[in-house]
Amino acid sequence: MTHNAAKDFQGFDTLALHAGTPPDPATGSRSMPVHFTTAYVFRDAAHGANLFALKEMGYSYSRLTNPTVNALEERIAALEGGIGATATASGHAAQLLVFAALTAPHDHIVASSRLYGGSVNQLRNVFPRCFGWQTTFVDPDDAQNFKRAITDKTKFIFLESMANPSGVVVDIEAVAKVAADAKIPLIVDNTLATPALCRPLQYGANIVTHSTTKFMSGHGHALGGVVVDGGTFNWAAQPDKYPNLGQANPSYNGTTFNDAFGNMALHVWLHAVGLRDLGMTQQPMNAFLTLQGLETLTLRMDRHCANALAVALHLEKHPKVAWVNYPALPSSRYAGLCQKYFGGKGGAVFTFGVKGGHEAGMKVVSSMKLFSHVANIGDTRSLITHPSSTTHSQLTDEQKISLGIGPEAIRVSIGIENIGDILADLDQALSKI
Ligand SMILES: *Cc1c(COP(=O)(O)O)cnc(C)c1O
Repeated sequence: MTHNAAKDFQGFDTLALHAGTPPDPATGSRSMPVHFTTAYVFRDAAHGANLFALKEMGYSYSRLTNPTVNALEERIAALEGGIGATATASGHAAQLLVFAALTAPHDHIVASSRLYGGSVNQLRNVFPRCFGWQTTFVDPDDAQNFKRAITDKTKFIFLESMANPSGVVVDIEAVAKVAADAKIPLIVDNTLATPALCRPLQYGANIVTHSTTKFMSGHGHALGGVVVDGGTFNWAAQPDKYPNLGQANPSYNGTTFNDAFGNMALHVWLHAVGLRDLGMTQQPMNAFLTLQGLETLTLRMDRHCANALAVALHLEKHPKVAWVNYPALPSSRYAGLCQKYFGGKGGAVFTFGVKGGHEAGMKVVSSMKLFSHVANIGDTRSLITHPSSTTHSQLTDEQKISLGIGPEAIRVSIGIENIGDILADLDQALSKI
């Protein structure tokens, strides 16, 4: 008999190790096997028919679900406190998947203006052309800004709990109230905070998305994304507003997801229709790698945050540094929200400005020896970018400044190396300007 520890022991760090991965019932394997299979043998013809009609849940084809991917989904749902999770090929795929579930052509989205640059690209440039979804971006510092932007066609609000990279912390509870009053769901991208620092569902968010590519996997080996459903939004009250869930689906014999699955309607749709028909499935090897990363999530986040705070405090006093945007600094305007939502921890990704502008920024980045100059964040290794000459080079100086990343800004993702080495590398690079 195998024992499923995650059912009896609910501590966060216990779930990070055990949720979704009891010992394999067939072999006793303690580690989660990687199921390299595209298809699953049906027990008999009736079993196959039931799976295809959604009368029975199980494995049919790996585009919909795979046991290793399912283990990752169960673990992340447990860590976020959701009713279920859907893993995807990347963080962007997770956003596309859940946005598609909730919209029809020419619908409207209200989003925080402080989002990861790639998400701004999706919302501003690609979605309007491909699907006619129009997004209004609002300054997230005031929850009323979201309220003012909502129209009859608005299907959800989207924001980042801890925004990449500007150190902005959004008052999730206040925006969740605006969303609830307008009877639309709040979707929170929790990539930078991770559930180790913040569980947005506890503050009234309805859905959480992640790029697991970052801190969730932590090692920088595997792309991945996930949608976590809190199961708290009443889709059935508005069947015409959310027709994917409220109207009969011709590809499942006319099943209406709200009627058949209650508060699991969205979660089931994301696999049964979303992944089946859109195909942004996560690969089992990536799910396995991300499961390994999650085992040490709290340990890593504690170290990331402690190192990042030490770096921020050091830079704040540095004569070559003009400003530091780190939410856990006592001087940050977000210190109060950082305390409330992240227990005073500021994450690992933040920006600072060097004296000397664009040229000085490029000089610092090219002088680093320990830090890697990359576009990524959330690796165990320390990473650095100069947004003005790379990720944000297409913007005017004015646009850069309005995003809190002017020509002098440098973005860092502080790793878990020895803090003395991290500070020494920054100091030697800053001494070059
Ligand atoms: C990286 C990132 C994404 C996109 O995730 P990918 O896995 O790269 O597709 C979305 N949101 C945030 C906050 C990110 O940092």
